[in-house]
Amino acid sequence: MLAATTEPQLESKSDNARSDDDSPQEIAVVPLLGRSIEALTEWVIQHGQPAYRGKQLHQWIYQKGIRSLDEVTVFSKKWRAEVSGFPVGRSHIHHRSESPDGTIKYLLRLRDGLIIEAVGIPSDKRLTVCVSSQIGCPMGCDFCATGKGGFTRNLETYEIVDQVLTVQEDFQRRVSNIVFMGMGEPLLNTEAVIGAVRSLNQDIGIGQRMMTVSTVGIPGHIRRLAEQQMQITLAVSLHASNQALRTRLIPSAKQYPLSALLDECRDYVKMTGRRVTFEYILLADLNDRSEHAAELASELRGFQSHVNLIPYNPISEVDYQRPSRARVEGFTQQLKDKGIAVSVRYSRGLEKDAACGQLRASKAAETISTAS
Ligand code: SAH
Ligand code: SF4
Repeated sequence: MLAATTEPQLESKSDNARSDDDSPQEIAVVPLLGRSIEALTEWVIQHGQPAYRGKQLHQWIYQKGIRSLDEVTVFSKKWRAEVSGFPVGRSHIHHRSESPDGTIKYLLRLRDGLIIEAVGIPSDKRLTVCVSSQIGCPMGCDFCATGKGGFTRNLETYEIVDQVLTVQEDFQRRVSNIVFMGMGEPLLNTEAVIGAVRSLNQDIGIGQRMMTVSTVGIPGHIRRLAEQQMQITLAVSLHASNQALRTRLIPSAKQYPLSALLDECRDYVKMTGRRVTFEYILLADLNDRSEHAAELASELRGFQSHVNLIPYNPISEVDYQRPSRARVEGFTQQLKDKGIAVSVRYSRGLEKDAACGQLRASKAAETISTAS
């Protein structure tokens, strides 16, 4: 999750700041970014060029990071002039804010002027990108800043791929890991997410094992993801050890009993051979007591899984509390004692700085990526 941006979501067309946004007719055209080498080859042939231009175009889009076909100097001036208006699909960096540990949050302006968030999280060995899959989120989880901000629309495949290229360019370093933990519920936008995983893997060269899709669970969609036989890590936002508690925190859980969700996760393990990560936000006195740890351990007994405990990052809209360190350690130990694989990562305190406040979910994201 990422906090909903305070930036205006839809600015007026007359605003100079977005005068280069595409017109509604242009937005209807599916851009080139996110397309495979085969699809790009087909596209150049359709536009009267020899097939080998497809490979060149692929390189210029994914390696050189062109924003307009006009930049492809290996193409003739005449052809460039003909196709230069065809969109590549890149966003613009509207704002970037860097936290002291080097994490950078980006507000990106899309072709239609809407703003999304992406986060780059560097460490010695990795550069992880936390990507958004939707603008806002309709799931309305009670502890989540994105959930409190409502839902605008799904992102397209190219808009997800663009986030990764943008972070890679800004850091001038190859992205190694992807976590779908930004704005939105990826499995409400499964087709675009599957398309993005393909493109990030085949076009940009990021290993599927380095990618994590985090979901609160949408009935049937975990199996659909499993059918793709991808090597990604599935992270399921559990947050509660029983159905009643989960329903309090996650409204959609009413239509999706915990037992059915866990059955679908078991099928995922069977179908893909990959273990599942369970995310569990620890909320003081609500889901962090000894009986909850015992209940969780019993639900997950024998399950090929890993539990990731995330001490709650306070948001202003609700008054849940982050548990004490001792409580977090006690909960962790209790799970370990029952043979559950578990990890926990603390973010650096609870700075009042708004940027850091909004970046704490990215810390959770990094935990997942290092645990997998
Ligand atoms: N919609 C997906 C992915 C985006 S949320 C999902 O819910 O899994 C990514 C992670 O951030 C989830 O585990 C989510 O529960 C967690 N998160 C949301 N709000 C949080 C908060 N206030 N403190 C800590 N983690 C939070
Ligand atoms: Fe936030 Fe819930 Fe949506 Fe995830 S599913 S982004 S936790 S509202």
